[in-house]
Amino acid sequence: MAKVKASDIDFDNLGFDYFDLPYRFQATWKDGKWSEGELTQDNEVHINEGSTVLHYGQSDFEGMKAYRTKDGSVQLFRPDRNAARMQNSCERLLMPKFPTDKFVDAVKQVVKANEDSVPPYGSGGTLYVRPIMMGVGGNIGVHPADEYLFRIFAMPVGAYFKGGMTPTNFTTSEYDRAAHKGTGQSKVGGNYAASLLPGDQAHKAGYSDCIYLDPVEHKKIEEVGSANFFGITKDGKKFVTPKSPSILPSITKYSLLYLAEHELGLEVEEGDVYIDQLDRFSEAGACGTAAVISPVGAIEHNGNKHVFYSETEVGPVTQKLYDTLTGIQFGDVKGPEGWVVKVD
Ligand SMILES: *Cc1c(COP(=O)(O)O)cnc(C)c1O
Repeated sequence: MAKVKASDIDFDNLGFDYFDLPYRFQATWKDGKWSEGELTQDNEVHINEGSTVLHYGQSDFEGMKAYRTKDGSVQLFRPDRNAARMQNSCERLLMPKFPTDKFVDAVKQVVKANEDSVPPYGSGGTLYVRPIMMGVGGNIGVHPADEYLFRIFAMPVGAYFKGGMTPTNFTTSEYDRAAHKGTGQSKVGGNYAASLLPGDQAHKAGYSDCIYLDPVEHKKIEEVGSANFFGITKDGKKFVTPKSPSILPSITKYSLLYLAEHELGLEVEEGDVYIDQLDRFSEAGACGTAAVISPVGAIEHNGNKHVFYSETEVGPVTQKLYDTLTGIQFGDVKGPEGWVVKVD
């Protein structure tokens, strides 16, 4: 199949779709060590049918973006955090860790090799980078694989939630995405398999996605689909985000938490967000690399609909957080030391 050429890409109408760009990176773990790894043009993975990834979900992944700046250069946002989080996910699934320096270097190689597919500055698009790791080999038993593949591919993307920075509505789900001491804080494939049905139900009912409540009591907000939740209190002074062992620690969320405190002068709190106390908040948002910030217009729960700032307009604090974060990511605003890494 022919590779996608940059000249074939309609940068103004990108969704979140797979593209067969020319290059991806692959390294293999064999005999207790990682190979050097290299760029390859082959977009298919050839693995044994007994591979643990296929049967028992021994796989994890990351999601990050490369941003085109005004001067035409390309940069990454906190790639060391993605490397560290993937190492934590690997620890949970008994998979070998890929070292941070090699991870960042491999991401740079993939972005550089596909650089003409990084959407232009001002289009709102980015090059989404997807590192994945999986257990492979002919060992059908329920134990960790002896061999692993680490691969990084990339694709140009537009805004994740349709409509971008306009509020959308969400509904709570009766399902859980992860158990309290399960794999919720690891970015693993199985969590997503578990989220397909509840997500589909929410979409069919006309919502952007579903809200997962804590798996112990179903009283507190945990995640908004595959994004973290934050709320701004009614007095406009506090940034609040849930804390729980079954939440995936979003790099976007922790970046916003830092910016809320140090740039916007807000108080910040990681704590309980009870679904029956949403009156505390005047604004709410869902955040993650793919979604950036998606304002939450309203949440439907047990037949009650709670509207935050507005179902059609973005609140001022959410807007400010969005402008500050994306300003840093696209190189227009100077961020904290080390957040931005140039691809050169
Ligand atoms: C990846 C992910 C997020 C967002 O994390 P970022 O580092 O901000 O991209 C939030 N929730 C879940 C379940 C995720 O998998």
